[in-house]
Amino acid sequence: MKYNRVVIKVGSHVLTQDGEIARERMQNLVELIALVMQKGKEVILVSSGAVAAGFSLLALNRKNVTNKQVLAAIGQPLLLKMYQEKFAKYEMLCSQVLLSADDMDSKKRTALAKSAIDKLLEHGVVPIINENDVIAIEELVFGDNDQLSASVSYNFKADLLVILSDIDAYYDKDPRKFEDAKALKEVSTISQKELHAKPTANNEFATGGIVTKLKAANFLLEHDKKMFMATGFDLSDVKSFLLDDIHKGGTLFKR
Ligand code: ADP
Repeated sequence: MKYNRVVIKVGSHVLTQDGEIARERMQNLVELIALVMQKGKEVILVSSGAVAAGFSLLALNRKNVTNKQVLAAIGQPLLLKMYQEKFAKYEMLCSQVLLSADDMDSKKRTALAKSAIDKLLEHGVVPIINENDVIAIEELVFGDNDQLSASVSYNFKADLLVILSDIDAYYDKDPRKFEDAKALKEVSTISQKELHAKPTANNEFATGGIVTKLKAANFLLEHDKKMFMATGFDLSDVKSFLLDDIHKGGTLFKR
């Protein structure tokens, strides 16, 4: 495996099913992380899912932002408990690191967070990062941690960001709307049009969260880092990419 330190970001579409945590997919993700770490590599996980976990305990209306904050506050410890139980099967520890994007505007706070994360990894402990949803609602409202994971990758000196999405690759146009859309294997530049696409009926780029992923990729490309986007529903593409250095499915963004 080429990469020494990898950030893996998993979105809520992958981690939840019918409003609850998708336990089997979480189990598969934990297994992947364990396999990567067994190769002597370091993994930082950026995980959504706190709101869904909270909802399984208290069914508040999730359309309201304050309710989402409340559900995240209830769900975050449950989410971590579920991860802890799954990592325990591999005799591994995981840990909770709550950050807000603003924290990384401060060199001092970034340095403090980095030394804690470096130490956790030195002890073989998986840092599980999420936005601190009670005070930072960006993730709840917009990007589902895509931007946070890009900043985490850059600031904590990872070689690669892996985004596990509900789609298997980045396409030349929205594959859910265009049957002839083609999956792109490698992307080295992202156009202004793709980056600033606004959701309109005939804008093929602006559906779903693809724009926030492209922004994350663009930021990393500008800093000479790489991003790999693949499906989080079936981990075989990301497994062969990370563990065997074989690029089957998924899109690699690199300069
Ligand atoms: P996640 O929940 O995994 O973070 P999102 O659902 O927010 O992901 O974003 C991925 C979605 O973006 C895809 O399922 C697809 O519907 C949509 N999409 C729009 N344009 C594209 C494109 N060019 N390539 C891939 N997906 C696209």
